[in-house]
Amino acid sequence: MSAPTSLTPELLRGMPLPDHQQGADKNSRGRVLIIAGSREVPGAALLTALSALRAGAGKVQIAAPAGAAPHLAMAMPEALVVPLAETEAGGIDPAEAGRLARRCASADAVVLGPGMMDPPALAALTHRLLAEAEGEAAFLLDAGALAALADCREALRRHAGRLMLTPHIGEMCGLLGCPAEEVAADPLAAARRAAATYGAVVDMKGGRSFVASPQGEAWSCDRGNVGLATSGSGDTLAGIVAALAARGAPPLHATLWGVFLHAEAGDRLARRIGPLGYLAREIPDEVPGIMASLA
Ligand code: AMP
Ligand code: MG
Repeated sequence: MSAPTSLTPELLRGMPLPDHQQGADKNSRGRVLIIAGSREVPGAALLTALSALRAGAGKVQIAAPAGAAPHLAMAMPEALVVPLAETEAGGIDPAEAGRLARRCASADAVVLGPGMMDPPALAALTHRLLAEAEGEAAFLLDAGALAALADCREALRRHAGRLMLTPHIGEMCGLLGCPAEEVAADPLAAARRAAATYGAVVDMKGGRSFVASPQGEAWSCDRGNVGLATSGSGDTLAGIVAALAARGAPPLHATLWGVFLHAEAGDRLARRIGPLGYLAREIPDEVPGIMASLA
């Protein structure tokens, strides 16, 4: 297998992001549906939504457990918030899958997974949503939603060419059904295997991230720093990537750009605030300036 291509500003400039004409309305700027959060981790939905708007999405919907929904709506007045029935464990009731599947038709990209708890309910919801989703939205699956995918292969085929997965090492083990040592020994190979297995663009997250396409091409991101190893960091990445896909970037370009923007945001925060202790919620604020500098 060939070595991965290093992600650089020059490389990204060769795959420019969609150029929204002056006068474009918010629908054409990209609509993102974020299905995320739980009773214990409602803020994950907020971090994902904030990042999606900072990455230029025109419209964001958050679908979250009913108990968290009013708080999310107050914290993010820019979002439309859809309250969903909760399970006893504080997750989203899989009976909501049909309603969410219809809502996918009014989105250009869907994020499923950040901060979601109650694994059995989440597995059932993921399965039904992938099987029934209406429309042509790109799908970004992250965090707990990844654990369900090994049993969703048939449903995933419906979304071929529109899938993005963002596992960290533990989540990659679940995707491949192999031990952590195997993934840690060769994360690039793991990324390629997962991309081929699931027919998705895969970002294998870590200190050095690897992006692989289903065709076996691969890229590495050598930017970023240990300050990014902080709670909520991955949720911001999911929001950035989904927004770029919603704006019209192909899933591969959206993932490559998103990984770079996230890492570069961390590097700017490390320089300004300090290498450790900046917050995930500060990552999205860096994104507009970095995007503009790369245009
Ligand atoms: P998550 O584990 O889902 O919160 O995602 C963490 C994010 O931070 C991923 O995008 C990782 O690639 C990134 N990250 C974690 N640790 C490091 C590190 N030591 N250096 C650079 N990036 C990191
Ligand atoms: Mg995560």
